[in-house]
Amino acid sequence: MGETRPGLPFHRLRVARVIAETADARSLVLSVPPALAAEFGYRPGQYLTVRVPGGGGTVARCYSLSSSPHTDTDLKITVKRVRDGQASNWICDHVEPGAELDLTPPAGEFTPASLDDDLLLLAGGSGITPVMAIIKSVLAQGRGRLALVYANRDAGSVIFAGELAALRERHPDRLTVTHWLDHERGAPRGEDLAPLLRPYARREAFVCGPEPFVVVARQALERAGVAPQRVRVERFESMLPTTLDATAEVTLDGQTHRLAWPAGTRLLDVIMSAGLNPPFSCRQGNCGTCACRLVDGDVELVRNEVLEEEDFAEGYILACQAVARTGRVAVTYD
Ligand SMILES: Cc1cc2nc3c(=O)[nH]c(=O)nc-3n(C[C@H](O)[C@H](O)[C@H](O)COP(=O)(O)OP(=O)(O)OC[C@H]3O[C@@H](n4cnc5c(N)ncnc54)[C@H](O)[C@@H]3O)c2cc1C
Repeated sequence: MGETRPGLPFHRLRVARVIAETADARSLVLSVPPALAAEFGYRPGQYLTVRVPGGGGTVARCYSLSSSPHTDTDLKITVKRVRDGQASNWICDHVEPGAELDLTPPAGEFTPASLDDDLLLLAGGSGITPVMAIIKSVLAQGRGRLALVYANRDAGSVIFAGELAALRERHPDRLTVTHWLDHERGAPRGEDLAPLLRPYARREAFVCGPEPFVVVARQALERAGVAPQRVRVERFESMLPTTLDATAEVTLDGQTHRLAWPAGTRLLDVIMSAGLNPPFSCRQGNCGTCACRLVDGDVELVRNEVLEEEDFAEGYILACQAVARTGRVAVTYD
């Protein structure tokens, strides 16, 4: 179980167990062989990137670790189905105990500076995964007090309901959990959540979930008086700008490939779906590993934390964040 391809940080790990958390969410418990233990060390709140079949090739998606390095021996990710989603449904439908998955080592910055800090936690749906890791670590290893506001469609879709109830019982003075169920109270708005947050407005806040939840959570935090610089956010999807179907001409390892580029998809997914091996790592627009040069056409970067003006001037773009703005786009890695 070593590295699957030279140059890429993927390693093949075995799935030890599959846990049906709810009707549409599964956890995969991953065995890390001793030789990879150091590389797969992690902080609570970090994520892995998983490569799975999709679009005739492979697609890569990020999944946060719901396990805690302080309480769990194995690594665990928790995947919730997204309607028509390629990777989430493939994982929930096909991954059985004993399966092997290609994964990158943990990454990400959605992690508290100290486990002794008091925190305000807001999670929407599958956004509970990194938050769960943080809760377990703080309660086991730190002195911090935690207030969690956790929004879901209905009671049946609450991932980790039992575990959270048990933790609350064990630590009544350190953990409060407020569930918001859309089914009972309608989808939350900023003004609905703000009163629940106000008692904790002096704490650092951690927000995680799909974009619509993040938007509401931010509004609520602002109303509650939490300073924006004290709000940490992990988005489970990016808002893609409106884009068009295009053709990508990709030069990689001396060969040029003409690829169909469906509207709204990222260039990196298009290239990987074609079975090619472009370099990449974080998939978040943070690291620059996937940078290639734009030779023709135009793209928009959904997110960019690494390229600067002079990089753009030289034509560099991030494949993991690029969506097409012209019908034909040519890039080169060479
Ligand atoms: C840092 C990070 C950590 C993540 N951790 C987790 C995790 O722990 N558990 C988990 O289940 N997911 C997590 N995600 C989301 C995950 O990476 C995928 O985006 C998600 O599983 C959908 O992928 P897909 O291939 O099934 O859908 P795609 O085929 O990529 O998308 C299908 C459609 O669904 C929409 N969509 C994509 N993602 C979402 C979403 N999250 N909610 C609603 N609609 C969406 C797309 O816009 C598109 O229209 C994380 C994402 C990031 C960036």
